[in-house]
Amino acid sequence: MESGRESPRQLADGPTEKCGVVGIALADRAVARPLYYSLYALQHRGQESAGIVTHDGFQQHSHVEMGLVGDAFTAADLESLNGSTGIGHVRYPTEGSINACCAQPFSVSFKSGSLGLSHNGNLVNATEIRDELANLGHAFTSDGDTEVIAHDIARNLLDEDLIRAVKHTMERIHGSYSLTIMHDDVVLGVRDPQGNRPLCLGKLDDGYVLASESVVIDTLDGELIRDVRPGELIVLNGDGSGYDSYQLISNDHTAHCFFEHVYFARPDSVIDDSLVYEVRRTLGGKLWEESGIETDVVLPVPDSGRAFASGYADAANETTADGEPRAKDDAGVEFAEGLMKNRYVGRTFIMPTQDERERAVRLKLNPIKSTIEGKTVTIIDDSIVRGTTSNQLVRLLKDAGAEEVHMRVGSPPIVAPCYMGINMATRDELIAANKSVDEIRQEIGADSLAYLSIDAIAESLDSERHDLCLGCVTGEYPFDIDGETADRAVERPVIGEKQPFAADD
Ligand code: AMP
Repeated sequence: MESGRESPRQLADGPTEKCGVVGIALADRAVARPLYYSLYALQHRGQESAGIVTHDGFQQHSHVEMGLVGDAFTAADLESLNGSTGIGHVRYPTEGSINACCAQPFSVSFKSGSLGLSHNGNLVNATEIRDELANLGHAFTSDGDTEVIAHDIARNLLDEDLIRAVKHTMERIHGSYSLTIMHDDVVLGVRDPQGNRPLCLGKLDDGYVLASESVVIDTLDGELIRDVRPGELIVLNGDGSGYDSYQLISNDHTAHCFFEHVYFARPDSVIDDSLVYEVRRTLGGKLWEESGIETDVVLPVPDSGRAFASGYADAANETTADGEPRAKDDAGVEFAEGLMKNRYVGRTFIMPTQDERERAVRLKLNPIKSTIEGKTVTIIDDSIVRGTTSNQLVRLLKDAGAEEVHMRVGSPPIVAPCYMGINMATRDELIAANKSVDEIRQEIGADSLAYLSIDAIAESLDSERHDLCLGCVTGEYPFDIDGETADRAVERPVIGEKQPFAADD
């Protein structure tokens, strides 16, 4: 056990979701407001529901509501969440129904106390464990996999202490998970053995915090200590005085999700020691090196394309598309805002038809004609999923007078669904799963189209390919995907639209 130190030791013998999780333990201040602000900082990770569970030393208090953080809690709700330890969650569903029953934190009372659980990730063997537990008499109230984890830990707690109970559940569950857990008034954080989803640890003036992204720690004026290690359990002291670390499972390699860096995380977050903004700028520079094309102007697709486009334009102003140093009298390329985003388009609701998805793009983005008219332009986005956004944008830019529209994409073609917790389109809907790059170019109407290579992703993240989860761009996942999960992932409804409240969408 490590007490606020950096050398964990082994314990003796011992959709869900594209979501955001947090857990906080304070000395004696009420935790509800810091949790509420944390969820605001994580709003981009889920807009479906928000929830907080606290414990006052005697009993658990919970408030979980559908909708955005700002709408989910009233001042009275926060007042009622007593206690100085608690966990929180924002949800954007992948597995499980899109309704109130799957909103989190999930809480349950059982023989040896109360348990609250916030989960970011997706288990690939939840059905198997659910069936086993159901046969032992466990009654499930939701079809999400978070409840499966809660029941499994609760069952283990009948016979063993908390640390062993968590370890034995970790040994049974497969897939991606970053969890914040409350057992009575004790807050814990766990990251799956491959570190697929992010989780970090920070220090506050009067306590400690565990969160999906470091922006939470910034928002609370705290200090980032480090990422939680893959397979590690952190237990926060109830009085906010420190934390203990247990390396419960060790793995030879990691499977960090590269897409967190490309799209999902906020650019101002530090994940696995890298500032997301800088990674995106580096990726943009590599995009120029690999497939730069000389055009009059470079435009980001706001907001997630911005850091890529600035890195691309900076690289373009240093070397030509042929890799030669730019001459002093060569004006290089102009970096401009050519697309304005309407920040007040309401919360993304499920848009079931292609027609509605296309309309949503038009509602969100509008061109600035003067930066486009009569020019050759390059637009940079982080990714193409269905192709809806790029298709609409190319048309918009041409209608606004662009002479040529070239598209550059800051990730490799997305050819397969994500089973690890990011809500992406189904295989049938993924444009790159079914078409070559040139066919996509034709379909979106661009004059040229190029994606970033997988090698560039690995280099920019300073990582080996086998230490990254590249499932959506290779179709090879860190886990065997059982037929059940794969079928559900193909059938489930998806929200492929950019989310209007995402800080970086
Ligand atoms: P599409 O229009 O379907 O090609 O989606 C691409 C756009 O959606 C890009 O502008 C991305 O920034 C954004 N995006 C990528 N992945 C996701 C996701 N999992 N959920 C929501 N938006 C996404």
